[in-house]
Amino acid sequence: TDTRTTAAHGGAIGLHGIKKWFGTFQAVDNVSLDIRSNEFFTLLGPSGCGKTTLLRMIAGFELPTEGQVLLDGVDISRLLPNQRPVNTVFQNYALFPHLTVAENIGFGLKMLGKPKSEIDSVVKDMLKLVHLDGRGNNPVTQLSGGQQQRVALARALAPRPKVLLLDEPLSALDLKLRKSMQMELKRLQLETGITFVFVTHDQEEALTMSDRIAVMSTGTVRQVGSPWDIYDRPAERFVADFIGETNFLEAEVISVSGEKARVRLSSGAEINATYPEGITPKGKVTIVVRPEHARLGSSGSGMLEGVLDDIVYLGTDNHFHVKVDGGSTFIVRQQNAKSGHCGFSEQERVSIAINDDVAQILRD
Ligand code: ATP
Repeated sequence: TDTRTTAAHGGAIGLHGIKKWFGTFQAVDNVSLDIRSNEFFTLLGPSGCGKTTLLRMIAGFELPTEGQVLLDGVDISRLLPNQRPVNTVFQNYALFPHLTVAENIGFGLKMLGKPKSEIDSVVKDMLKLVHLDGRGNNPVTQLSGGQQQRVALARALAPRPKVLLLDEPLSALDLKLRKSMQMELKRLQLETGITFVFVTHDQEEALTMSDRIAVMSTGTVRQVGSPWDIYDRPAERFVADFIGETNFLEAEVISVSGEKARVRLSSGAEINATYPEGITPKGKVTIVVRPEHARLGSSGSGMLEGVLDDIVYLGTDNHFHVKVDGGSTFIVRQQNAKSGHCGFSEQERVSIAINDDVAQILRD
């Protein structure tokens, strides 16, 4: 077997109490995270939340003002970038235009003083890994954007880093290419066993590729979890809002038993709701329900009553905007299981039924 393309061990990254100030501006505020060996880990958040700064501190391009960066338990906070077994892939590829594909891929190994025979053999493996066999002698400038991104990946993977950092590497590609490169990145991570730390502001991209996601806002990590944890069990309003479409409802806790609480909606209907770790919900709370976790029905059949304000036909789904009696708008997303009109009309009175065990109480 080829040990170069089947690494047994990706590095584990520990971030402990990381703070970063640029002059008087605090870009990162006390972030602690444990990124596991071999995982595809994503830092997700809006522009300016500190994702890139955090990534640059793992790479060594920036030093934390306070806190430590550990690799497999060893403090690497003060090491220079080239002393860390970590490599970065940037959004703009940063390839050398005057070099061939193979020379670009072998560049890092050459800098490390590896013998030519070893470089040739690794480059060959890397070309195969990123599906560019036979393109080694082409000038990189002759390749398409997607192919150039593959070269950038191969170059970063060639020295066998323990951790690969990816800073919005797909954002320069068009939508179709981006989708196929998402699959490609996932495959590369699985095949190499290298820990990937991926930065994006695109929630769909994060949900598609990640083993776990850290959702960030203004220099802080708001929640860490699997894609379904983050999507189905958001702990707070920012996370629920940032990841997909959400309905927020006011409710009152009646009782708590184990991991679930019984809550009463403004209509008087009662449902079960889960809640975030570390709190015991009581009194008035806000709950979230995803649009696809509720069903629209004729008036009198559900838990909430209202007027159907708007029907948005999307081919695969309909989005129903319901003005709930005495409350706000609730969106129901329903798949079009058969062709033709959905059977509801605007301004009709309707009811909404919420599925079992889908509601989540927010912290706050
Ligand atoms: P984006 O997706 O737009 O790249 P981000 O989440 O990666 O955003 P960062 O690039 O980490 O955000 O920046 C976080 C904040 O720190 C921003 O407000 C940015 O302006 C500021 N910042 C980053 N680098 C520096 C610097 N060298 N000097 C001063 N401020 C900086």
